[in-house]
Amino acid sequence: MSSHTLMHSARSEIQGFKGQFVSPEDPSYEKDRAVYNGMIDRRPALIARAADPQDVAAVVSFANAHDLLLAVRGGAHNGAGLGTVDDGVVLDLSGLKSIEVFPGARTVRVGGGCTWGEVDAATGEYGLACPSGIISTTGVGGLTLGGGLGHLTRRYGLTIDNLLEAEVVLASGESVRASATENQDLFWAIRGGGGNFGVVTSFLFRLHEVGTVVGGPTFWAVEDAAEVLRAYRKFLPASSRELNGFFAFASVPPAPPFPEELHLRKVCGVVWCYTGRPEDAAEAMAPLLAATPEPLLHGVQEMPLPALQSAFDPVYPAGDQWYWRADFVREIPDAAVDLHAKFGAEMPTWQSTMHLYPLDGAVHDIGTSDTAWAYRDVNWGTVYAGVDKDPANADKISRWTIDYFEALHPYSAGGAYINMMMDEGQERVRASYGPNYDRLTQIKAAYDPRNLFRINQNIAPAGS
Ligand SMILES: Cc1cc2nc3c(=O)[nH]c(=O)nc-3n(C[C@H](O)[C@H](O)[C@H](O)COP(=O)(O)OP(=O)(O)OC[C@H]3O[C@@H](n4cnc5c(N)ncnc54)[C@H](O)[C@@H]3O)c2cc1C
Repeated sequence: MSSHTLMHSARSEIQGFKGQFVSPEDPSYEKDRAVYNGMIDRRPALIARAADPQDVAAVVSFANAHDLLLAVRGGAHNGAGLGTVDDGVVLDLSGLKSIEVFPGARTVRVGGGCTWGEVDAATGEYGLACPSGIISTTGVGGLTLGGGLGHLTRRYGLTIDNLLEAEVVLASGESVRASATENQDLFWAIRGGGGNFGVVTSFLFRLHEVGTVVGGPTFWAVEDAAEVLRAYRKFLPASSRELNGFFAFASVPPAPPFPEELHLRKVCGVVWCYTGRPEDAAEAMAPLLAATPEPLLHGVQEMPLPALQSAFDPVYPAGDQWYWRADFVREIPDAAVDLHAKFGAEMPTWQSTMHLYPLDGAVHDIGTSDTAWAYRDVNWGTVYAGVDKDPANADKISRWTIDYFEALHPYSAGGAYINMMMDEGQERVRASYGPNYDRLTQIKAAYDPRNLFRINQNIAPAGS
């Protein structure tokens, strides 16, 4: 169907649509089709920006009836560009922005198109927080449905471990609630299974008392990386859950508050978030500092959690080129440490980075088969990300990422966090769900037998 015909059909068939349709002829189309990763350049035939859950249901039914490719867009952050599609329909949820905090019950109800920065600002007013990611512009929808890891993971678990309820528009257009007591199989599947099962129009999350934290980075010379990583791999799993600290390779951002003499210097580091009593933070971090060379910078301070949650936003604005790879790891043996040190020193651009996100602590309290997220026994999620502003460097950043990943993959647990992968094929998706994959295919067959929701890390319906 041409985009012109599609627009005409959408206008005539989707009665009472309160949102907005954008077609390739519209002046805003170029801006509206863009996603966060500048490497993704797709041209949907129609962008439907829903205003409420009824709009969502109408667009889903329309796409289903016409057998159209349908991409669902939350915050548009997905590295593989899963929030858009060539020649199909983009269902843009950015109009679903409601946020209701219930401080007494310590919960928050969030519209399916919110970003985490919006949620953090609202819950932060009450000194409450839900575990999420480390960049505030990331969408609640995609991050949550894939799992959700960040500064509060060791203490309070993955984002899905704090999900209490979701309103879901199914492929049929019907809207249902998924929770521990309603549609339990769907509730199990959406906690890690991505956007495979329907469109979530609202999420209800549990909140925790997190006001001020002690956070920020410690940076060491990249030449010290092997020594620091050897100390870190022992130190962190033995630390209290109040201490989160992800290991990273990065370059010092060329802007205040970083001292000018360090700007753009390649470093290894740990980015801390301590949620215990602020006066105990230094003691919690001390064993690592004692076991490692003198850092270049120990930039840790007390701050409101939302400030830490958005601290890296200026380094990573929308529109840059991104190439991702990821893995789960149980241990970091000496051979892996040496490879990390080699590739960390070879970062191709200053925004390129590698993070080892802790996945122990509260993540281990939940069993492998309790949610779709299968890797409850690993200690870290590794992400390799080649990043640069210049499209001319796309090959260079992709090459470094792939080479780094391939060198370290033999030391991994097999699968990866689906939210930090590119389009890497069905076997990679299967590996990432491990023993939960078969059950996911059965639930997929029950809720989306024709695989309408397939612009994602796709779980094929059983029997298809
Ligand atoms: C700079 C950056 C930093 C990141 N940091 C972290 C981090 O710290 N922790 C972490 O866990 N992840 C992180 N991520 C990864 C992030 O979780 C994924 O990119 C995620 O897919 C983004 O969700 P989104 O809604 O913004 O994406 P989109 O591109 O809009 O959507 C991604 C996928 O989710 C589906 N989806 C989105 N919303 C809904 C919904 N309401 N209902 C149904 N399906 C939906 C889409 O269909 C699509 O398949 C980061 C990503 C970036 C780019």
